[in-house]
Parts: sequence; C-alpha cells; structure tokens
Amino acid sequence: MYDLVIVGSGPAGLSAAVYAKRACLDLLVLEKEMMAGGQIVYTEEVDNYLGFPGTSGFDLAQQFEKHARELDVPFAEGEVTGVEKTEEGWQVQLESGESIETKSIILASGAMHRKLGVPGEKELAGAGVSYCATCDGAFFKDKVVAVVGGGDVAIEDALYLAKMCKQVYLVHRRQGLRATQVLQEQMKNTPNITFLPDREVKSIIGEQKVEKIELNNKAENAPEELAVDGVFVAIGMEPQAAAYANMLTLEGGYVPAGEDCTTQQPGLFVAGDVRTKKLRQIVTAVADGANAVASAVDYLTKRKKVVETC
Ligand code: NAP
Repeated sequence: MYDLVIVGSGPAGLSAAVYAKRACLDLLVLEKEMMAGGQIVYTEEVDNYLGFPGTSGFDLAQQFEKHARELDVPFAEGEVTGVEKTEEGWQVQLESGESIETKSIILASGAMHRKLGVPGEKELAGAGVSYCATCDGAFFKDKVVAVVGGGDVAIEDALYLAKMCKQVYLVHRRQGLRATQVLQEQMKNTPNITFLPDREVKSIIGEQKVEKIELNNKAENAPEELAVDGVFVAIGMEPQAAAYANMLTLEGGYVPAGEDCTTQQPGLFVAGDVRTKKLRQIVTAVADGANAVASAVDYLTKRKKVVETC
C-alpha cells in the first residue's frame, strides 16, 4: 500500500511529487497522458513564472518532470475512474480495471479544453478544428482561421497564428474581452487580426475539412457565414473532477478546498486547477502541490500511518 497516490502530473502533481519524495513518502504519480506537464505542455510562452522569463511551456514542463525523475519519483500511466474509501485508506480505480491501494490521495487532475458543443465541432476535430494553436498552427500557414474566445488564451492564440496565417478572425460572444489590456493592445496593432465581437458560433461546416463557420451576429440578430480553413477553440477549461463526484460535493465542477488543500474527506487532498480558487496559474498550482503534501504528511503522521525517516 502506498502512502500517497498523486493523480495528475501537471505543475501541481509534479510539485507535490517533489515535496512528497522529500518527506520520505512512498508515492506513485498516475498520469493518463503519454507526457507529464499538464496544460503547460501546450502553452507557447510562459512569461510570468518566477525565474524563467520567456520560457516555453513545453520546456518548463520538461524541467518540472526532470526534477521529479531525478528524485526517483515513480510514474505510472492510467486514467482514474473513481476513488473509494477502504478500512486502511483509499482505493484508486483505473479505467483498465486495475485498482491501487493507498493511505492518502492528492487529486491534481487539472482541467481540459472546454468544447463549443456545436454541430461539426466533434466531426471536424483534427480536420481543421483545434484546441491548441501552438500544436497545430503550422498546418495553417498562409490560410484563414478563426479563433473563438475572449480570454488571454484566445488573444495569445490569435497573435501566435497571425505570425503564420494570412488572416485571423477573433470571434467572441460579447463586446468586452476578458484578456489583459496588454494583449488587447497587441491584437489591435496586428493588421491581419479582425475582431468579430457579439458573434456566437452556431455550427462548423465542411466535407472532409473545415470550410466555413455559421455565426449569429447578436447585435443585428442576423446569421452570418465566415469562410475559414481552421477554427481554434479557446473558450476556457473544464475541471477534471467528475471521477470524484461520488466522494465529494463539487462546486461548479471544482473540488472545494482552501489553501491547505484538504477536502471534505480525510486523506483526500486536492491541488492545482481542479481546486476552487481565484487564480489558476502555474505558480498557484505549484504552491498547491507543496501545501497538499504538507497536509497529507500531517494527516498520515497524526494517524501513525507513515514512517518518518528514509
Ligand atoms: P477564460 O479567461 O475563462 O476565458 C474564456 C473565454 O471564452 C471568455 O471570453 C468566455 O466568454 C469565452 N467562452 C466561454 N465559454 C464559451 C462558449 N461556450 N462559447 C463561446 N465563448 C465562450 O479562459 P482562458 O483564456 O483559457 O484563460 C484561463 C486562465 O488562464 C485565465 O485566468 C487567464 O488569465 C489565465 N492565463 C494567463 C496567461 C498569462 O498570464 N500570460 C495566459 C493564458 C491564460 P465571456 O468572456 O463572455 O465569459
């Protein structure tokens, strides 16, 4: 039986792994993707993580993973479908049908790209519909694309795509953008980005690949069509907590917890973007990883569930 199973290997999970290793816990990190790092793997540039100005998300993720691997943190691939209480602690259930026994768990399962949920989106995913400009942008060199969304990610994606695409449309459902002023200014100063506010995407159309999108112009209450080669959806993230809904009362899909990362269930801790919090950034995820381990160590020590030397 493990002392601690960490679900997820983004910044929160990897930070927790480093702290847990230093606390001499017998741990396992579970990750469903091929690669550790979480969302930052797909982030072109990270400019606000202290000590690493202007690094790429991919490089930062690799640094995080390297740090954990140098401490001999054990990793396993597997998708968690549920967690159950047992007499001794917890059982983590995997999609493969296997289960893992542990005394405590840190849920660091993060968040995934939100979908528009319109006709054509699923059918044309990978055939012009993308959720990652930095991964797929190069396929749209000299083409016309639409970015959907009004947050930092949408504007960053539009700016990135404008460097290689002939024309970028930024389609947003309101007038006001959520993105920071700096990014908004950069967008205004980029001649091949056209802002299309007050537009809802109704459908994505194409035979083999994306050919156009149908919009509703809310200001004029009129349908519109926009011929595009690609659609980049950047409308925020969905917390990945459904697998724990049987054990925890979620708030808007997130696991409720304060800075100490303790949940309603003793022995079950939460860290990173899947936790209720104000600011979801790498730095807050990394901080959660450390706090969650401190709480897990308290829990294990008080219940004499762990040997304190290694
Ligand atoms: P976000 O800030 O939540 O913005 C999501 C955008 O998508 C909003 O403009 C929202 O519209 C729109 N949207 C949501 N659901 C939609 C739907 N069903 N149809 C159409 N539009 C929809 O998400 P984000 O841009 O992914 O950013 C996530 C977090 O990461 C934010 O806190 C952001 O500040 C942070 N971030 C920071 C940096 C940085 O500091 N450099 C870079 C990237 C991201 P409404 O505005 O109408 O709600």
